[in-house]
Amino acid sequence: QTPRTLPEPLAPRRPTRQLRVGKVGVGSGSPVSVQSMTTTPTADVNATLQQIAQLTAAGCDIVRVACPSQDDADALPQIARKAQIPVVADIHFQPRYVFAAIEAGCAAVRVNPGNIKKFDDRIKDIARAAKEHGTPIRIGVNAGSLDRRLLAKHGRATPEALVESALWEASLFAEHEFHDLKISVKHNDPLVMVRAYELLAERCDYPLHLGVTEAGPAFQGIVKSAVAFGALLRQGIGDTIRVSLSAPPAEEVKAGTQILQALGLRPRKLDIVSCPSCGRAQVDVYKLAAEVSAGLEGLQAPLRVAVMGCVVNGPGEAREADLGVASGNGKGQIFVRGEVVKTVPESKIVETLIEEALRLAETTTEA
Ligand code: SF4
Repeated sequence: QTPRTLPEPLAPRRPTRQLRVGKVGVGSGSPVSVQSMTTTPTADVNATLQQIAQLTAAGCDIVRVACPSQDDADALPQIARKAQIPVVADIHFQPRYVFAAIEAGCAAVRVNPGNIKKFDDRIKDIARAAKEHGTPIRIGVNAGSLDRRLLAKHGRATPEALVESALWEASLFAEHEFHDLKISVKHNDPLVMVRAYELLAERCDYPLHLGVTEAGPAFQGIVKSAVAFGALLRQGIGDTIRVSLSAPPAEEVKAGTQILQALGLRPRKLDIVSCPSCGRAQVDVYKLAAEVSAGLEGLQAPLRVAVMGCVVNGPGEAREADLGVASGNGKGQIFVRGEVVKTVPESKIVETLIEEALRLAETTTEA
């Protein structure tokens, strides 16, 4: 693949403490990881493990499961043992499930300081149990469930309020010499969220889990998350990410992975460069791009494939890509590594591109 040079590199990662969430490192010494959360009832072990397997196949690094009841807590040992990727238990309201999750061998536990009742009294015991098992804790502050005291003080879930909640909780753990923490301060407004993480990054050295919470249906949620994560990761802020979507969780993983690839934080796999089409297009660009994307889905080789509608930008982009088509007069000129290798009728463009991509993939090793 032709290397792309960024006009300006990203800022270096903000130095943080280093955590291990199971086999995955989280912190400035490790690559930014992608997380998601299962939507199955956790107590349904088979369904949950099946969804975790799908998420693993989609490229998920860390998975979170909800634990709202004793039945869910009872399922955690099996899920933690059998999942292919580290499992984080998500606990609200009941401190006793925090202990259950730690005992179950979960790779980490997420607690929400806004809604764990009597939580503060139990920090000492939680810190001791977590330390004994080597279990990191995520302090997951969420605008929708901010501590009432802070809501009253700040009037609403401002960046300062979110950060104050997180740092207060972190200080309670620090009093007991427990520092295996990562923090999130999520808000549904990407601008508030970005400011909150910027403030947090200035005030602590814990690894940060980025998320725009309740970001919306797929299209809106991906746009909000991409804007926010891009703004933060550009500054070196962020160690693990979750794109929250009202959509199947595998979509969250694909979106998160693509955001990291677009920022150059993950090696690019398949990258389709396709034009938006316009009045000059001499082929159906949407159809071609969709068919080529579908035909090459899951291809692991780092290939850039250009699908272009006419001769204005077509030959230039097709030549720059590993593989491409420049279309005109119902025909497509097929480029491989900058050279025209054949010209085919429009009806053969997709199959020819797929054939050539598979051939190239066999000879391409990942960068
Ligand atoms: Fe229009 Fe041609 Fe550019 Fe595609 S490549 S957007 S068809 S000018």
